[in-house]
Amino acid sequence: VPGVGAHRRFEFMLVGEDTKESISDEISIRTLIGQYIDPDKLEIARSAVYTFHGLTAENWRKGRLFLAGDAAHQMPPFAGQGMCSGIRDAHNLAFKLDMVIIKGGKGELLDSYEAERKPHVIAMSKGAIQIGKAIQTQDRTRSFFRNLQFALARNSEFIREQLRRNSIRKISYKRGLLGSNHKLSGQLSIQPTIVKEGDGEILLDEILGRDFIFLSVVNVPNDTKARFDSITGGRALQVGRSFQSQKLKNWMQSNRVDFLIIRPDRYIYDAGKVKDIGRVLESLKNMIKRK
Ligand SMILES: Cc1cc2nc3c(=O)[nH]c(=O)nc-3n(C[C@H](O)[C@H](O)[C@H](O)COP(=O)(O)OP(=O)(O)OC[C@H]3O[C@@H](n4cnc5c(N)ncnc54)[C@H](O)[C@@H]3O)c2cc1C
Repeated sequence: VPGVGAHRRFEFMLVGEDTKESISDEISIRTLIGQYIDPDKLEIARSAVYTFHGLTAENWRKGRLFLAGDAAHQMPPFAGQGMCSGIRDAHNLAFKLDMVIIKGGKGELLDSYEAERKPHVIAMSKGAIQIGKAIQTQDRTRSFFRNLQFALARNSEFIREQLRRNSIRKISYKRGLLGSNHKLSGQLSIQPTIVKEGDGEILLDEILGRDFIFLSVVNVPNDTKARFDSITGGRALQVGRSFQSQKLKNWMQSNRVDFLIIRPDRYIYDAGKVKDIGRVLESLKNMIKRK
């Protein structure tokens, strides 16, 4: 917006006889935008015609070469998950490379990158394609019911929640660098606000850093922290001692766990009761450490 400096982004779908050429000239763009806003109030900074894809590479690793981001997958942008997926890839691969190259972990750890990320990306792409079909439909009946759904959703949290559930959901990892003690294994950890002395109210993320974290709501045996550190190089934190968070405490209690092992990418390796700690740490050691 000249003089104001604000940017607006408009997206239109090519329909009927439209071609890349017929829609790209300034008059066509101003006519399209003119349906919603006075085009004379805008200066066109950039326009582009995109073709969306739902693609996933068959193999994400060949020896020392790894694919990540759009090189490994492309999805339509309707769920806003394309770059998010690339960031998840980078986070996943980066901490495993650190474990193997810097911390002397097993080379096989790197195979868990594709095992975890590929099914996740495929599920996200399917969700994005579903949303795209609803947004882009040319069918009058389908668009009538879609519009009705959204009109109702405006006033109903219940319908909004159903729409969210049917389109895109949190997807867990089923196979990879994961334990097998508790159903939280493979799920993304929650992100509550916590209260930490000196820092006040902050997000849990802010104190987790880049390490593996052993997070407990109870006192754990003294040798647990040393063992955890020797396996992962990570840190132990206790809710109620390292920081306060009733929400996190409630969530762990509702899942009936005393501890969680959170990976650097915030996925849960495994969880359990105090009596499970020895077994879970042993399985973690077997996954990470060279013989
Ligand atoms: C219209 C549209 C809307 C989108 N909206 C969203 C959204 O809301 N949310 C979201 O999460 N994602 C969205 N995305 C997807 C997101 O833009 C991409 O997933 C993301 O940019 C991919 O990042 P990348 O780094 O993997 O790849 P790229 O952004 O493609 O980066 C690759 C880079 O490598 C460079 N390169 C290529 N070959 C070489 C070479 N041989 N040597 C050196 N450099 C090279 C390229 O020039 C480029 O800079 C959208 C995409 C589109 C098209």
